[in-house]
Amino acid sequence: MNPQNPPPSRPPRAPLLTLDEALERLLAGVAPLADSEVETVSCFDALGRVLAEDLHAQVDVPPGDNTAMDGYALRIADLQAAGGVLPVGLRIPAGTAPEALPAGVAARIFTGAQIPPGADAVVMQEACEVLESGAAVRVVAAPQPGQWIRRRGEDVQRGSQVLAAGALLDAQRLGLAASVGIGLVKVRRRLRVALLSTGDELVMPGSVPPDALPPGAIFNSNRYTLSALIRALGARCTDLGIVPDRLEATRDALRRAAEGHDLIITSGGVSVGEEDHLRPAVQAEGRLDLWQVAIKPGKPLAFGRVRRAAAHGANDDRDSALFIGLPGNPVSSFVTFLLAVRPVLYRLAGAEAALPPPLPMRADFDWPRADVRREFLRVRRNAQGGLDLFPNQSSGVLTSAVWGDGLVDVPPGQAFERGSTVAYRPFSDFGV
Ligand code: AMP
Ligand code: MG
Repeated sequence: MNPQNPPPSRPPRAPLLTLDEALERLLAGVAPLADSEVETVSCFDALGRVLAEDLHAQVDVPPGDNTAMDGYALRIADLQAAGGVLPVGLRIPAGTAPEALPAGVAARIFTGAQIPPGADAVVMQEACEVLESGAAVRVVAAPQPGQWIRRRGEDVQRGSQVLAAGALLDAQRLGLAASVGIGLVKVRRRLRVALLSTGDELVMPGSVPPDALPPGAIFNSNRYTLSALIRALGARCTDLGIVPDRLEATRDALRRAAEGHDLIITSGGVSVGEEDHLRPAVQAEGRLDLWQVAIKPGKPLAFGRVRRAAAHGANDDRDSALFIGLPGNPVSSFVTFLLAVRPVLYRLAGAEAALPPPLPMRADFDWPRADVRREFLRVRRNAQGGLDLFPNQSSGVLTSAVWGDGLVDVPPGQAFERGSTVAYRPFSDFGV
């Protein structure tokens, strides 16, 4: 190229990235919150929080051998020697510490009660005949050794790790922590996310009667979807409303959003039309990468940082908030949130975020139009064990995400016929 005659300047084209490349770059730019940012909360209040410490058991669970059934604890040899009938010499309700089982005797025992030392099986009461008003019992079928006995430590062994730092505390994990006697846990503080909606066409629901929507306007739905997604993943969401399609207003809004927030999420305005002001605004207030991610729906995705007023020093990440600009179309912003924002939020929160493998399922529809982009189709499971396709896959049709219960991940350039096995991911995989 002749340096004297440079070609006419064109706006730089955003690079086209695969989703995996985009995720790699996104996550490379995200450090978890500092280890110091932890708080101690009751397990009762820790739902949805990220565990900040490994938890170890200081007790066996169950703490002792106990019975899984209401019935009779006995020695099998005693039962055999007595020809199947034993006197009942002990009564052991749950919550008591039983004495040893005397020779030649059965113990009446109730679910959860400790096995008396010496007993080697429990016979459930349905398999017994009560004799002499409960003073004796007949057992018809010979019990197996250990039958209906839940062994000490069969769930959790003393000294073992029950949960690792980074675990997302759901109902099961909180129950497990409680089962080893832990009432308080160290968790990461909640992430603080600021949400902005861009677009002069947007009107807040409730601000005008639905039948009085001005011409050219639409109701702001992304605000509700994105705010709910943010909160569903355990973060706090500050809704900063609608930003007008003007550069100065967008810059002001970004500056406000950067204060006191870890992450700023916007919807709309990241395309390259002249009404899309986010790109220059973020560039002026920080730094920005604008990408075209080769996914459908989705495509434009902006990622960067917005400086805070109180600067600590050059290039210190504490001086800025992360910024992710999502596309405006409602299905695009929903899907890109699941695919790209969720991993960022989890990384920031120090949480374990790996998705389970997608499910191989039968497509009960044809997909004749291969696309150069990787596509995420809105589908739902049918009663025949297959997947049905929502007929309108437009990125503006939010009904598809309500009718559907998940996404089919179609590799780039792939068409397929009804009956093919496809990769399906329920929305619940994403924790929403
Ligand atoms: P944009 O990315 O700003 O070009 O917007 C793409 C499409 O998404 C346009 O049709 C917008 O009207 C629509 N859109 C943008 N923001 C929202 C929103 N918050 N709620 C619903 N639709 C939106
Ligand atoms: Mg717009």
